[in-house]
Amino acid sequence: MKIVLLGPPGAGKGTQGDLLAERCDLPRYATGDILREAVREQTPLGREAQRFMDAGELVPDEIVIDLVRDVLQRPEAAAGFILDGFPRTVAQAEGLQATLEARGIELDAVLYLDVPEEELVRRLAGRRVCTVCGTVYNVHFDPPQNAGVCDRCGGELETRDDDQEETVRKRLHVYHEQTEPLLDWYAGDGPPVSKVDGVGDVEEVFGELIELVDCR
Ligand code: ADP
Ligand code: ADP
Ligand code: ZN
Repeated sequence: MKIVLLGPPGAGKGTQGDLLAERCDLPRYATGDILREAVREQTPLGREAQRFMDAGELVPDEIVIDLVRDVLQRPEAAAGFILDGFPRTVAQAEGLQATLEARGIELDAVLYLDVPEEELVRRLAGRRVCTVCGTVYNVHFDPPQNAGVCDRCGGELETRDDDQEETVRKRLHVYHEQTEPLLDWYAGDGPPVSKVDGVGDVEEVFGELIELVDCR
C-alpha cells in the first residue's frame, strides 16, 4: 500500500498515521518529523529549513521534493509507505507524481482528514511532544498519566515552538492558501481523495480510515 495522508495542522495526521503504520506494517514518513530532526542536528538541510519552520511557513518545494525522493528510495519503502504531511502544495504533488511515475508506482489511497478550524486551534494549543521518543499527547484530549512526563519512556514533554498561538494562526493561513488547493488538484489530475471526518475519538477516526485501505 502506498498511502498519502493529507490534512491541516492538528488534524491528527501523526496520530492516525502511526496507527495505520502499525496496522498495515508500513513505514511512515512525516516530512515535519524529518525536518525537525535535521534542525535539531543542524545539518545543512536543517539550517536551510529552520527559518521557514520557525515562521510557520512552508519549506521551499525543491527542498522537500528532493527529500521525499530520497526517502522513497530506501529499501524498506519498496513494498509500501505512508506519507504524512507531504505533499503540501500542488508543485509537491506534481513532484511526487513524477517520482512515482519514473518508478512505475501508483498511489493506492489519498486520505484527507477533515477537522474544523476551532477544533484545530484547540488541539494545537494542547499538543505536547516527548523530547525523547516523540510520542504525541494532548493536555485536553489525551493527557499523560503524570503532567509533563511521557508514559512510554519517562521523557520530558514540551510544546513545539511552532504551536505557539501566533505561529498556529500563520500555519492555518498557509494551509488554506497553499495546501487546500491540492484537494482540487487530486480530484482533477491525481488519484481520488477519500475524505474522512477527523472529529471524534482517535479510535473512531481510525475505524473510518481503515475502512478505506486494504490492509486489514
Ligand atoms: P503539522 O503536523 O502540525 O501540520 P508538521 O510537523 O507536518 O506540522 O510540519 C511542521 C513544519 O515543517 C511546517 O510548518 C513546515 O514549515 C515544515 N514542513 C513539513 N512538511 C512540509 C512540506 N511537505 N512542505 C513544506 N514544509 C513542510
Ligand atoms: P497533525 O500531525 O495532523 O498535526 P497530531 O496527530 O499531532 O496532528 O494531533 C494534533 C494534536 O491533537 C495532538 O495533541 C493529538 O494528541 C491530538 N489529537 C489527535 N487526534 C485527536 C482526536 N481524534 N481528538 C482529539 N485530539 C486529537
Ligand atoms: Zn517518550
